[in-house]
Amino acid sequence: MIIVLVGAPGAGKGTQAGRLVETYGMVHLSSGDLLRDERKRGTDLGKLADRYITAGTLVPDDVVIKMILGKMRELNASDVILDGFPRTVAQAEALDLALAAEGQKIDAVPYIMVKPATLLDRLGGRLTCRADGSHLYNAKYNPPAVAGICDIDGSPLYQREDDLPDKIKTRLDTYFAQTMPVIEYYRAKGLLREINGEQDIEQVWYDLLLAIGKQSEDPGLLVG
Ligand code: AMP
Repeated sequence: MIIVLVGAPGAGKGTQAGRLVETYGMVHLSSGDLLRDERKRGTDLGKLADRYITAGTLVPDDVVIKMILGKMRELNASDVILDGFPRTVAQAEALDLALAAEGQKIDAVPYIMVKPATLLDRLGGRLTCRADGSHLYNAKYNPPAVAGICDIDGSPLYQREDDLPDKIKTRLDTYFAQTMPVIEYYRAKGLLREINGEQDIEQVWYDLLLAIGKQSEDPGLLVG
């Protein structure tokens, strides 16, 4: 099953993707995590990506497309959640072409919808695990049990440099200009599943499971 999780930065994609990994053993491919990892390792790709990540703007399409498609081929996983990719229509088209060439297709595109004011509030308080970027917290809404420490692996939590106020604004502007068309692209293909991301984490999780066919309308029944 291939799922493309869409929504603005701060919508809760990473949190929900982490749950899909834990519950269903799906493979979580976050383009942002992969780029930050390249940067940490000081690779050429990481050096190139650095200034875009720092500015809160998008890394060029050709670079990101090559990275993600390469990673998908390398992992050869059957159950994948794409998070943060595609972020432009060119990326979405490249993904469709690559999947079609392998006889694969996207199963569903859950869209976690959150108002801009909520996004600003959430991103400003977001705390990320140093060891695993998909372990996410929020100082106000989803705090760790022990301040500054990841509940899952005990690593220190930090505030991403692009979660600082001026960068947040650029990232949200970039999202509305460049990524909203991707949402329309998937809507036109009948793959989009809208989810109210203003609800609490458990309710979003329930709606997400419904959207990807892992949960029946009967709350007691888990599918697959
Ligand atoms: P994220 O962790 O998804 O918020 O991504 C952090 C940063 O990585 C973004 O602000 C971009 O600079 C870069 N990035 C992540 N995914 C992509 C993508 N699909 N296309 C271009 N740039 C990306």
